[in-house]
Amino acid sequence: MQPIVALVGLILAITSFNPALAQTADLIVENATIYTVNGARPKARALAVKDGRILAVGGGLSEYAGPATRRMDLRGAAVIPGLIDSHGHMRGLGALLESRDLRRAATIAEIAGYVRQQAASRPAGEWITARNWDQANWGDRFPSAADLDAATTAHPVYLTRVDGHAGWVNTRALELTGIGDGTPDPPGGRILRDPAGHATGILIDRAQSLVGSKIPPPSDAQIKRQLELAARECARLGLTGVHDAGVSARELRAYRELIAEGRLPVRVWAMIGGDGPLWREYLAKGPETGGYLTVRAIKLMADGALGSRGAAMWQPYSDDKTNSGLLITSRETIERVAREAAARGFQVCTHAIGDRANRTVLDAYAAALGGKNDKRFRVEHAQVLSLPDFKMFAANSVIAAIQPAHATSDMRWAERRLGPDRIAGAYAWRRFLALGVPVANGSDFPVEEPNPMLGLYAASRARTPQASPPAAGRRTSA
Ligand SMILES: [Zn+2]
Repeated sequence: MQPIVALVGLILAITSFNPALAQTADLIVENATIYTVNGARPKARALAVKDGRILAVGGGLSEYAGPATRRMDLRGAAVIPGLIDSHGHMRGLGALLESRDLRRAATIAEIAGYVRQQAASRPAGEWITARNWDQANWGDRFPSAADLDAATTAHPVYLTRVDGHAGWVNTRALELTGIGDGTPDPPGGRILRDPAGHATGILIDRAQSLVGSKIPPPSDAQIKRQLELAARECARLGLTGVHDAGVSARELRAYRELIAEGRLPVRVWAMIGGDGPLWREYLAKGPETGGYLTVRAIKLMADGALGSRGAAMWQPYSDDKTNSGLLITSRETIERVAREAAARGFQVCTHAIGDRANRTVLDAYAAALGGKNDKRFRVEHAQVLSLPDFKMFAANSVIAAIQPAHATSDMRWAERRLGPDRIAGAYAWRRFLALGVPVANGSDFPVEEPNPMLGLYAASRARTPQASPPAAGRRTSA
């Protein structure tokens, strides 16, 4: 495979050469395989750059060379436009980069060992947090509070599942939060309980906030440090832009400070997180479009995720007949926000994983949009759909913001959750393409890794670099 050279920070624009206008380039990249993403001229061999912008793309561009021009012979290597991740969580990535990634922990004991080690170096009572545990790594059994109690009873522990849709806590955290046998499930959330009715230590979706609200909030300096860390990591991986899927007012402030200090190396297109005060503020003042920060969208959550069985399904999970997931925002709310957004020039981006959640969002969008339009509303994930619902994307000009790496991560257990019929409408990106529905490719980092090459690989090969699907081309339960 040829090396790929990503031109960070450059926007690839095709200009036809006109000698009368020739300028002297700072840099000429020659003998390259340049993928222009221009259907009329998909490939080129040379690229001229001046003042950080592309002057020309073509065959040979030596007419742009002056005595001070740097010339780079790429010997056939590939050059692609800067990549944009259409769905990531910047602060989540930053927090992960400065803590421990539990993604590859293969046993509960390994995680308990990490917690024990953290407890030994911290004063009693201090919260221990980390993220990305995944029960699929040890046979799909949810862990319990007791597993963590073995590591510490003096520190409250809160560990977030890889999808961000479940929390695993110890007994100390349950006590501090006041979660007991009589605590009802909060709206949009579930406290998992054992047959005797005791909380097991797993909190699904909005039940997580019972604990999350007790953890001291991050300082402004911590938020800014995490955003900068994440942005540098994204730039290092060849991303030039990120769509941050749900930001707070404090995060926007931190972004503005980083931009003013010249410390934000990627462009951020931020979705306002939820329809709270920040959304009302932006509705009043209208969209904000800038070089490094654009705020022109709102993020809503229709349901949870498949791995933690919080995704809202029409029928119960095939591996849990008592559970069909949770709708966490009503159709009425989504429709109201959709109308507000459409009237003020904002996009709506709604997380929907289950078939019931996707249909609920599509119905709400259709009511607000009334057919083809130029509003570019999105469904984030669009992961499990009833087959007749695919065409609703096309009918209402809705973008499917997909994450191919979810398919290759979830293939270990997705059919077990969904059964053989529903799996046909799951991760079915080709059905969108066949209908002419625009798909936006993203990673959902830190749920998946931020390296965009892994998403492109998953999209084109339907496998991870490490593992093939269980049976040739077909996802089965592992
Ligand atoms: Zn996400």
